[in-house]
Amino acid sequence: MNLDFKRKLLTPKEIKEMYPLREESVAAKARNDAEIKAIFTGESDKLLLVIGPCSADREDAVIEYITRLREVQEKVKDVIKIIPRVYTNKPRTTGDGYKGMLHQPDPTRETDMLKGLISIRKMHMKVVSNTGFTCADEMLYPENHRYLSDILSYVAVGARSVEDQTHRLVASGLNIPVGMKNPTSGDMSVMINSIHAANGCHTFIYRGWEVQSKGNPFAHAILRGSVNKLGNTIPNYHYEDITTLYEKYLAANLPNPAVIIDTNHANSGKKADEQIRISKEIINSIRLSGDIRKFVKGLMIESYLEDGNQKTDGCIYGKSITDPCIGWEKTERLIYDIAEMR
Ligand code: PEP
Ligand code: MN
Repeated sequence: MNLDFKRKLLTPKEIKEMYPLREESVAAKARNDAEIKAIFTGESDKLLLVIGPCSADREDAVIEYITRLREVQEKVKDVIKIIPRVYTNKPRTTGDGYKGMLHQPDPTRETDMLKGLISIRKMHMKVVSNTGFTCADEMLYPENHRYLSDILSYVAVGARSVEDQTHRLVASGLNIPVGMKNPTSGDMSVMINSIHAANGCHTFIYRGWEVQSKGNPFAHAILRGSVNKLGNTIPNYHYEDITTLYEKYLAANLPNPAVIIDTNHANSGKKADEQIRISKEIINSIRLSGDIRKFVKGLMIESYLEDGNQKTDGCIYGKSITDPCIGWEKTERLIYDIAEMR
């Protein structure tokens, strides 16, 4: 076998026992989960903003960014619920490059998976104890979800994973909302099938156990744009795209019809500043139809302290080392503008 079993790692249970959540953090997660689920059931009309850097590359900048978000959240709390993006593992198109804090707790140094597991848990714990936010992360490696399962309030299944059986079955066993992204091809039926699978109950093997899932009624769609055979990006945030998805959703008869629209990635062509215009267009679309207003639950925005991005070994604090983001000033302005338009 071409695989070197380097060392046995600690289990999620062992790491959770080493780094347990404080009581206030457990209560904060329960409060956040209830508030977020009420948005998906339609009980609450607030708009979700899943917002933050493409990758949470260093704890200090992430904590500073989310501490600033806390102040903004207080001012818009009647209309907006913020879920910070604290993305600790990154899918890479070719497999090359920075794979997130899970792999490299320090982006300029060697991979260290044990240190990575501990660093991502400590960072998520610090966010909740400092700010009361419980966050979103991508479920890139379903078998690792349990290292953070007591801290996350939202997970996304990425465009490159959404057709994968393990992701779908593990999503069916989570009791938090799971956003299924459209695949990079843009085929909406793949995403709808993924939501259907996550809604269902399944028996499967997980972490060496035979497990039975109860089904997740909070699985939903995320539109992130697509790429055609020439590599050109094709957005899917326009009114027509949203209504097309709404009709497909109703035809599939799925519980809690819901979509979050990712304003970056193939929707912006990774031109981060376009996220501002795109967000406002979506908010305008929502105003055109009562059904669409209920269906569009929120936006996903890539934002950090500084505008743009830099190379992985770049040393500008708070500037993305993966996809370009909008910086803090634009972020703050955008959130207030969205709140006003809501
Ligand atoms: C991301 O959210 O940073 C991401 C990689 O998304 P996608 O799976 O849509 O490419
Ligand atoms: Mn990204």
